[in-house]
Amino acid sequence: MPVDRRVRGSTGLLGVIGNPIAHTLSPQLHNTLSTLLGNDHIYIPMRVMPEELVDAVKGLKALNFIGFNVTIPHKSAVMELMDEVSLEAKLIGAVNTVRIDNDRLIGDNTDSEGFAASFKEKAGTGFKGKSVVVLGAGGTARTVSVKVILEEAQSVTILNRTISRAQGLVAILKGIAGGLMSATHPDRVGWGGLESAKTAGILREADIIINTTSAGMYPDIGDCPIPPEYCMFTRNQIIYDVIYNPKETMLLKLARNSGCVAINGLGMLFLQGVRAYEIWTGVKIDSGMLINAFKAFSLALNDLQ
Ligand code: NAP
Repeated sequence: MPVDRRVRGSTGLLGVIGNPIAHTLSPQLHNTLSTLLGNDHIYIPMRVMPEELVDAVKGLKALNFIGFNVTIPHKSAVMELMDEVSLEAKLIGAVNTVRIDNDRLIGDNTDSEGFAASFKEKAGTGFKGKSVVVLGAGGTARTVSVKVILEEAQSVTILNRTISRAQGLVAILKGIAGGLMSATHPDRVGWGGLESAKTAGILREADIIINTTSAGMYPDIGDCPIPPEYCMFTRNQIIYDVIYNPKETMLLKLARNSGCVAINGLGMLFLQGVRAYEIWTGVKIDSGMLINAFKAFSLALNDLQ
């Protein structure tokens, strides 16, 4: 049997902390990138309980990790352990990527960039001047909404099952929008219940509808964040679903049947990881390499379900 030379004394360490962690696809993505780029790095999953977060982060620093990803439930709590946090991560209220530079912990958020880049690639347009409806008011809704506001959408409307959460997110977003845009766009951020999609023309008038709820995610693949009979989209609308398992949710199927551009969350998952890898290595990954990496990564999705 040949000697396994994949991990050596000089191998650079990367990984992801979270709980649960067994389902993560990040090791497949980052280890594939290292193989394709010929980098001597290894990326490992690490289960960390909330009460162990401080010790775990100290440990990663002591163990000379190059950097690490942070996932549920630590994305907010890890912020206060950082020496520096990017503006975007501050606005989103979450760090998903940490670089360790000369013993300093530098926190960033690559989810928003992954979302925006994957959207633009498939939709062929950005958010400037667009009327955007976001379904959901959780962590991903904030990530997506902040990006859309930073890129000067004309309006953002948050629709959520739990109204108080929609109101809470809108209060945060109004603060951000106000800070960025002064008083010229006071009503550009609104909210409602998911059921308001049934009555008012909210969905019909939107240029872009983004689902950030987990409704429709495996195993509940028959679910839709809004009842199917109200998903009457028009051809010029763009429907984005952050869910990637299944690859086509009920919402996206209805959108595709209406002739809309329908985009799933696979590109977001992939590109947030690519951006994190670029932050750790300081190397921009070229488009040819990205295509190869995406093909390889897509196969990892067969591990799901
Ligand atoms: P979260 O903070 O827990 O928020 C969940 C949201 O989904 C809330 O708005 C919740 O509404 C809503 N929701 C849950 N079940 C629902 C149902 N049956 N009907 C209607 N609304 C429902 O979760 P998150 O971290 O934002 O994650 C949300 C989704 O994004 C997950 O599916 C996750 O896998 C996906 N995601 C994808 C990527 C990617 O890279 N593609 C990255 C991050 C997350 P209430 O407030 O009423 O409970």
